[in-house]
Formats: sequence, structure tokens, C-alpha cells
Amino acid sequence: SGAGGDAGGGPALGVLRRVFGYDAFRGAQQEIIEHVIAGGDALVLMPTGGGKSLCYQIPALVRGGVGVVVSPLIALMQDQVDALRALGVRAGFLNSTQDSEERRLVEAEFLAGELDLLYLAPERLRVEATLRLLDRGTISLFAIDEAHCVAQWGHDFRPDYLTLSQLHERWPDVPRIALTATATEATHTEIAGRLNLKDARHFVASFDRPNIQYRIESKNEPKRQLLDLLRTEHAGDAGIVYCLSRASVEKTAEFLVKNGIEALPYHAGLDARTRAEHQSRFLREEGLVIVATIAFGMGIDKPDVRFVAHLDLPKSLEGYYQETGRAGRDGLPSTAWLAYGLQDVVQQRRMIDTSEGDEAHRRRLAAHLNAMLALCETVECRRVQLLAYFGEKSTACGNCDSCLTPPSAWDGTVAAQKLLSTIVRLKRERGQKFGAGQITDILLGKKTAKVIQFDHDQLSVFGIGTDLREGEWRGVVRQLLAQGLVAVEGDYGTLVLTDTSAEVLGGGREVMLRREPERPARAAKAKSG
Ligand code: ADP
Ligand code: ZN
Repeated sequence: SGAGGDAGGGPALGVLRRVFGYDAFRGAQQEIIEHVIAGGDALVLMPTGGGKSLCYQIPALVRGGVGVVVSPLIALMQDQVDALRALGVRAGFLNSTQDSEERRLVEAEFLAGELDLLYLAPERLRVEATLRLLDRGTISLFAIDEAHCVAQWGHDFRPDYLTLSQLHERWPDVPRIALTATATEATHTEIAGRLNLKDARHFVASFDRPNIQYRIESKNEPKRQLLDLLRTEHAGDAGIVYCLSRASVEKTAEFLVKNGIEALPYHAGLDARTRAEHQSRFLREEGLVIVATIAFGMGIDKPDVRFVAHLDLPKSLEGYYQETGRAGRDGLPSTAWLAYGLQDVVQQRRMIDTSEGDEAHRRRLAAHLNAMLALCETVECRRVQLLAYFGEKSTACGNCDSCLTPPSAWDGTVAAQKLLSTIVRLKRERGQKFGAGQITDILLGKKTAKVIQFDHDQLSVFGIGTDLREGEWRGVVRQLLAQGLVAVEGDYGTLVLTDTSAEVLGGGREVMLRREPERPARAAKAKSG
């Protein structure tokens, strides 16, 4: 030990200790760093918080020249550069937020060899002047951060990333390191292909975040459920609550504040100053809750986020994993909590149906959603399923809701048949279209005004479903939707049959469903009904 610098550990370890003040490398960091220092290309797949930045920062400091870092996180560049400068690293950035004078200064530093690291927004590389600038300096390496942005299969595609393949053509001798926290096989292959990284060594870290407890419950009164969670388990903790729309961000933040929890909204509809202020308060103060759309969080490095709560269903497992990954970077126990309901499925299926883009694009969106739904409806360990999606085999974790309070599976074939035949009746006899609410009322034998109006109490299926409660029927509908055994159509969530419905109706297919506790384990409170 001591300030002796390189003694015994090689230049990389020396820089780690002297510049960054850390004792030891984590995981594969050392291997990756040495590989890049030696001039090799690398594709690094490491979860959020795994320590990707050092994998290019240290080689840039050890190799001669300037490390060029391509990153889409323009809003964070200033912070990143400030943090590096505070450590004595000579860093600068070029992006669209600067005026020409600021840009000129950074360019001069680059040309004078006065920079160790230069951060670039990808669109800068579309500009020929930027390429010529790079030609005139000495580049030690290219780091391509958030490399999944090049993948159209992924959930965060950015067309500007496609231009990055030219880096290798123009500077064939400069090593490249691409980094991402998204690692499905498909994305992974696409990154290697599009960035022409065929000879790159792949470093795949485990995507397990053992300190995060994954929990998914059905949505009844979402804001109440959230408040329960915060009060019983996370009083005074910092956390992120994700909502799909700006309106629900505002409403949820207000609701929390009214209930004595310090919460701030964050979404693209707020002006830039308010957003920046809320973000920096969240980073600097203790125990703040930020309620946000997914616009919030990319690249945010706050180690003590104790919970990430989703009040709406994420569109993909990649998104879910990345968002929940913002919890517990410090390694301490943290919660990833998601409430999801029938309406989420209806809404997202509709968004896919009406989305722009071709059929292949819609199929891709549907595949993403289906993987997300499968996680929600599994009776197995959530972590096993999540990791399996990222290509990793594991065993039951003991730290997710499925492991802690095992749900039972039940044979829902008859229930499914009752529900499907009700849909058939409504279609045949009335030519009218009805959603889950009306169908459930019919099954339960409820003589509501709307049931009477359409003579639905005269149907042979009226009241054949009284063996299940209303909440259970909602669960059945939701799970059949998730399994593709029914579908929704139109703006009112009309339930319709699918190609596979007939198999169930004809008795040729068993339907296994997840039975969930009436109220989830931790927040259990006496509540009748
Ligand atoms: P990622 O980009 O993979 O999400 P970061 O590079 O931001 O992760 O690193 C996450 C956190 O871990 C940062 O606060 C970073 O300083 C810290 N860190 C990274 N490597 C080490 C290490 N070897 N020792 C201690 N802390 C580290
Ligand atoms: Zn588990």
C-alpha cells in the first residue's frame, strides 16, 4: 500500500488508486482495461452500476492520446466532465448545448493534446468538421457508451448511432470499446454486427443484482398501494416512482406530498430549469422521492436509491431491468416494486396496434411486451426468469415475491372456458361489443343497469361464474390477455377471441393461472371482500 503508484500492480491499478481513489478492481474491470490498453477491441455487457466507466477512462489515461467517448446522455456530460476534472482528469465535451465559442475552446484543447477524455454526442460525428478535427489529434481509444442504442431490436434505438460504424473504417488502428447494460442475445449480436466488432472480445458480467428484491403485485388502488409500501418499508428513503404519463406523474407526486412524503415530479413537460433543479435535489438531498416518466434516470448515479416503484407496466424487460437497476447501486438491500393490472395490458396492446411503423416493428413491440407480461404472470422465481431472458441460468433466489410468498398455480381451464363462451355469446347474439367489466358482471350474475339494458341477464352464461370473486375474474382476464388467449380491440377495450381461443373452448388446451394473495404479503391489512 502507499502512494508509490505503479509499484506491483501495473499502470492500471496505479491509476485506479491514485486518480480514482479506489483500492481494487471490481469483477472483470481489470481484464477489460488491460485488454483495451493492449489495443484490443471489447464489447462490455455489464449491469447498471457495475462500473463500466472506468473500463474506458483508465485505458484512456494509460494510453497516449485522447480517449473519445460517444454518449447519448447530453444532459449529463457537463456533470461527468466536472466530476472527472475534480479528480484531476483533463476532460471536455462537444455537444449541441454549447455555443461556438465553448466548442472552439474544447477543440483547441483537443488539438493541443491537453485532454485525456473527450465526450461527444453521436450526432457530432455526422458533421464532417468533427471527423476532420479528430483526424488532426491523437486518439487513444473510442468508447461507445450505451451501445444498445445502435440496435433496432432494442428498446432505445437512435439512428445517429448507425454512423458509428465509420469509426473503424476511418481509424482502423484505434481500439474500440462498446459498453451497455442491455444484454439480450439479440441486442448483443446486433451491436457486434452494426459496429463491426466481430473481432472484439466479449466481456459478459452477471446481470444479477442480488440485493434488489423484485416484487410484482396486481394493481387495485395503485397510489394507496404505493403509499403502503413507502410507509411500511421505505420511510425516509430515497426512491424513484415511474409512471407512464405526465399527468399521472403530477397526480402521484401531489398525492405523496399530501400524505407527508417529500416527492418531486420529473417529466419532459416541465421546463428545463425545473427538471434540472429536481434532478439535482434528488441527487444531493437525502430521502427524496422522485416521481418520473422514463425520461428520468439514464446515467443517474445515485448509490443509495432504496426503491424503484413502477405504477405502470414497462414496455419491455430491458426497460424494466434498467429502471429497477437504478436501485441499490451501493449493494444494500433495495426494492423493485411493480403494480400492474388489466388496464395496463389493454392500454399497451392498443398502443402497439396503433403505433407507427411497419408490421415487423409492431411484432417486435409485441414480443417485448409479451416477455414483460410473462415475468408478471410467472409462478416461478422472478429473478430466474429475468436472468434467463438475458441468457443467464440461475436457481431460485430467495429474494423475490415468488420465492418469499410462493403463489400457487391453479387450473383455470374451466374459468377460461366460461369467460370465452360469454364473449362468444355476446358476439353471436347481439353484434355488440363489451369490455372486461360487462363480461365480469354477466359471469357474476349482477343485474346492473347495463346488464338489464342489453338483456344480458337472459343469457345462458348469466351467473355461471359466482365461484370466483370479481378480483379473481379480473386476474383471469388479465392472464388470458397475457397468454394471448383473448385480445382487446378498439378504444373501449372490447374483448375478442384469438386464434388460440378455440383450443381452450374445445377442451384441447389446459390453462394454468397464477393465484395471488388477495392483498400482497408485506402490506397485508384486514380488508374484506
Ligand atoms: P455503470 O456505468 O456501469 O452504470 P459506473 O461506471 O457509473 O457504472 O460505476 C458505478 C459506481 O461504482 C460509481 O460510483 C463508480 O465510481 C463505482 N465504482 C466503479 N468501479 C469501482 C471500483 N473498482 N471500486 C469502487 N467503486 C467503483
Ligand atoms: Zn426468487
